[in-house]
Amino acid sequence: MSGVELEKSTTIDLRKKHIGPSCKIFFSHEPIKIVQAKGQYMYDENRQRYLDCINNVAHVGHCHPEVVNAGASQMALLNTNSRFLHDNIVLFAQKLQSTLPEKLSVCYFVNSGSEANDLALRMAWQYTGHKDVITLQNAYHGHVSSLIDISPYKFHQMSSYEMNPRVHVAPSPDVYRGKYRRDHPDPATAYADEVKDIIHKAEEKGGKIAAFIAESLQSCGGQVIPPWATSKKWQSVHVRKAGGIFIADEVQVGFGRVGTHFWAFQLQGEDFVPDIVTMGKPIGNGHPLSCVVTTREVAEAFMSSGMEYFNTFGGNPVSCAIGLAVLEVIEKEDLQGNALRVGGYLCSLLEKHKEKHPLIGDIRGRGLFVGLELVRDKHKLTPATAEAQEVIYRLKEQHILLSADGPHRNVLKFKPPMCFTKEDVDLVVEKIDNILTGIYPIAT
Ligand code: PLP
Repeated sequence: MSGVELEKSTTIDLRKKHIGPSCKIFFSHEPIKIVQAKGQYMYDENRQRYLDCINNVAHVGHCHPEVVNAGASQMALLNTNSRFLHDNIVLFAQKLQSTLPEKLSVCYFVNSGSEANDLALRMAWQYTGHKDVITLQNAYHGHVSSLIDISPYKFHQMSSYEMNPRVHVAPSPDVYRGKYRRDHPDPATAYADEVKDIIHKAEEKGGKIAAFIAESLQSCGGQVIPPWATSKKWQSVHVRKAGGIFIADEVQVGFGRVGTHFWAFQLQGEDFVPDIVTMGKPIGNGHPLSCVVTTREVAEAFMSSGMEYFNTFGGNPVSCAIGLAVLEVIEKEDLQGNALRVGGYLCSLLEKHKEKHPLIGDIRGRGLFVGLELVRDKHKLTPATAEAQEVIYRLKEQHILLSADGPHRNVLKFKPPMCFTKEDVDLVVEKIDNILTGIYPIAT
């Protein structure tokens, strides 16, 4: 901390002058300046407290003292690049591995979710010798050049976007407004069959599948929870048969958030093991730290290219001390169990309000990963985009921070720090209930 606290207007002016305009900030029409944070709360320059329901980066709670101490004391002792032998990287990798299926035993530490997915793609290309990639409609995997093509959520809407013929987009497994819905007799198979067709068409044109990359639960795409065993079918039946591998992107949803399991891909059953798992955001509790975990086989094929893989900051002693502390706090404070209990409570409370509010279309969640989809018409599913923005804005006025996402920006997205409590849930749901009571769907 520099010790200097600028007037909010100065911060805004300096941001406009020196920070790239493409970087949107929450509530851009009336930004909040945050100067401090603790647990599930953030504080503005007037020390006004906000309840944070969206900041999944502060996974175990903002500025958790054990995480802060672990980072600070390691920083005072040593930080260096990962060419030197040091204990933290191996201890952290070992601990991380204990949360994953045995086969996933080799870690590559990087500094952001985008870097992790970029590296995962390179591994898939090298391992399979193939080039084609399957991604999902409304997926987001990061902002670096290799990921633009496989992130339809952000990039395919650009007027200048030209589809890369090596990338194939499968329907988002959204059982509320997607191609196959809850009333379909077997949506998991139907979504898996779409992938089979894609592979078939790609092969007819001479393509060969290197990888299928999918978020275990789709986050920016609208808190989508695929039907049971969809990924398992994608992987085992179709992608592997075509010689490709499966990359599970856990950047948003990993680390105990889903409550019943440590990783969201485990919701597909114990026998479902991706070939590569990428992770980011929560792993460093706000400190830049990410990782690619894969099998020995994939790692050896990657290294056999003759290229030396090196990442200056990836896996440095400070990052790994922080990562270890995060894992220890999750365990010690049973935050995964808390996510299950509090997330379940949130969904059940929202369900109680569903019938009385014409705007509530769908409620879906696993642990503290919850989506509330607002619609203007429960049959036509017309997205209530303006209404969702209004809810977010009014919550912010009452010092509750929530966001709306999905392709129509009509899904209220709950991904609070994992120390969120039932009292926090009571407060947020009461406010949402009150706000929805005063908002009517805009006629379409
Ligand atoms: N993967 C998913 C699922 C994400 O949601 C994001 C970021 O929002 C990324 C990857 C990219 O991570 P980062 O912003 O750390 O590069």
